[in-house]
Amino acid sequence: MTEYVNVQASETLDQGELVAFLKSRFPEKTKLVERTVVKGTECVEVRVPSGSPEFEEIREFIDARRKQGLHGFTKFTIGWHLRKYTKAELQHAEVLRLTISSHFEPCGEECGTVYETLCKECNWCRQMSDLILDLRRVPQRKDISETIAWIEWIVSSKFVRAFAENSLTGAEFRPIFEFKNPIKQSSEWHQLIVSGKAGALAEKTKLGRDPFSPTGVSWRCSLGHAMVTNFLSEIYVHRDAWDGSDIATTSDLFGPGRNLLRPSPLILISQRMYRVIQEAGLAGFSYEVAHLT
Ligand SMILES: [Zn+2]
Repeated sequence: MTEYVNVQASETLDQGELVAFLKSRFPEKTKLVERTVVKGTECVEVRVPSGSPEFEEIREFIDARRKQGLHGFTKFTIGWHLRKYTKAELQHAEVLRLTISSHFEPCGEECGTVYETLCKECNWCRQMSDLILDLRRVPQRKDISETIAWIEWIVSSKFVRAFAENSLTGAEFRPIFEFKNPIKQSSEWHQLIVSGKAGALAEKTKLGRDPFSPTGVSWRCSLGHAMVTNFLSEIYVHRDAWDGSDIATTSDLFGPGRNLLRPSPLILISQRMYRVIQEAGLAGFSYEVAHLT
């Protein structure tokens, strides 16, 4: 595994000093990010190997400004880890963290799906109706995708078939109804409901605000449901807590839930499921190695 840190700095977020530093110090590595919110402001991104002298230099720069209490540095998360694996590493992992790489909108709630919000602080919720979506918006070439609500996972019939034919465990598939015609059930798309349980994250998982402030998470719901954090290490869960399913979610929830956004668990899969996805040629997944401890 090779671990990198992606550093993103934006003038809009009051990080002009960091933008200038990265551009002058790493002219070749610094890329302009296209999607700036405010016209005429710059947002740049640099990728450096984690723990390298370059990383250390950026860390010192940010740390000094955080100590001064500068708004653009204390208020926002700066950067995240990126872990790259060889095929062999992925094929030898007992379990893997699965990330859904395609997102779309509008989300179910905007199309008439009913939710009950269970926590006002973190927006944790329960789905009370079948999922209704504008199915023209689903990425057509992906076998898995999610809406911007983060908790609505959509899979193709091909995914459902591969799952059933290989007797994988830990998921059920529910119907999705068409926004334009809510009595019409989609024959192609299904909602993935993960019933498998992976338990809570083990202490070995390093959480932190970002790679430059490795202690403390950014935010935690005072009732303990959800938190906002970066994952500074690979994910570890307790072997005893995993129920043995091929696909399972953590009991910990993550993300700054508000309005349409809901906190969501991490998805973990077995090596067996990883192989099925590869052999069936299913698209839309990315992986990190995870660990049972
Ligand atoms: Zn909560």
